Amino acid sequence: MAKVMTVPKRQLAFVVDLNKCIGCQTCTVACKKLWTSGPGQDFMYWRNVTTSPGMGYPRNWETLGGGYKGDELLKGKRPQLMDYGVPFEFDYTGRLFEGKPGRARPSPTPRSAPNWDEDQGAGDYPNNYYFYLPRHCNHCTKPACLEACPNDAIYKRVEDGIVVIHLDKCKGTQACVESCPYKVPYYNLATNKANKCIACFPRIEQGVATACVAQCAGRAMHVGYLDDPASSVHKLALQWKVALPLHAEFGTEPNIYYVPPVLGPGMEDGAGNTSEQPKIPLAHLHKLFGPGVEEVLKTLKAERGKKMQGGKSELMDTLIGRRSADMMLSPLT
Ligand code: SF4
Ligand code: SF4
Repeated sequence: MAKVMTVPKRQLAFVVDLNKCIGCQTCTVACKKLWTSGPGQDFMYWRNVTTSPGMGYPRNWETLGGGYKGDELLKGKRPQLMDYGVPFEFDYTGRLFEGKPGRARPSPTPRSAPNWDEDQGAGDYPNNYYFYLPRHCNHCTKPACLEACPNDAIYKRVEDGIVVIHLDKCKGTQACVESCPYKVPYYNLATNKANKCIACFPRIEQGVATACVAQCAGRAMHVGYLDDPASSVHKLALQWKVALPLHAEFGTEPNIYYVPPVLGPGMEDGAGNTSEQPKIPLAHLHKLFGPGVEEVLKTLKAERGKKMQGGKSELMDTLIGRRSADMMLSPLT
């Protein structure tokens, strides 16, 4: 029988503007330093940023299953350690000063790691393309991880909807790893517990933004409560509808919304002439964000047009984020 889900009083949510993410990994490092430097956590990046198209992190996570089909919980596969990439040390001295190939130590040579296929993308020059896809736990409204856990170790906080693993109750069963379609929980071999993003709840409780949002060098991220009409998250996701969930078809009702990367350069003909047709194929964006992408493209182009003509656009001002406080703190205090 399906578990009865807690309906939180409020839901914390995020918006990531993929037109602005520069793939600098500042958010990744901020999260890593803060939360995953303990035993068994070397390979864990609760926050990670990968190149799309690409195999992602863990490797090929989109094909491993989980989530829901209607109300039926689906059991997916667990990624293997090699899918995350075992941390390795590159032989810089050998490569740079001794003419050796610089192989990783220890061998065998690794075949995957976070953002393994960085900046490769797809397509042929001059119409090759890629963008960056930052991810962390979606703190879903219908969390498959919570429903799958046989030990009732996962709960959704009533005050903010953050999904947390109660480590005293976790028995390392890994049902959450199998059922999360985003492959966000990690199995910690050293502690026999599952670990995952906690949305920096000790910071949120103090009205301070999560580390990933606070440190974002590209001002690409927003955090706030979905029901707060003053929050940029509410405006972008619910009011203007220019931010869409990733793989909504997985059925978990995720609470990270993405502004799709539709404002990039147009196709080139090889002679330096560009067209209106975006280099990133809409089919690729549909696969990630669903059919709403075209509507977002129309809205963003129209609003950008207003700004270019010297007019006003609250939407574009919100995305520009001149005052970082407007992207994170004001909705929380
Ligand atoms: S993204 Fe995965 S781990 Fe996070 S709440 Fe949703 S189902 Fe659970
Ligand atoms: S810090 Fe911001 S711009 Fe840099 S990778 Fe993370 S989301 Fe992208």
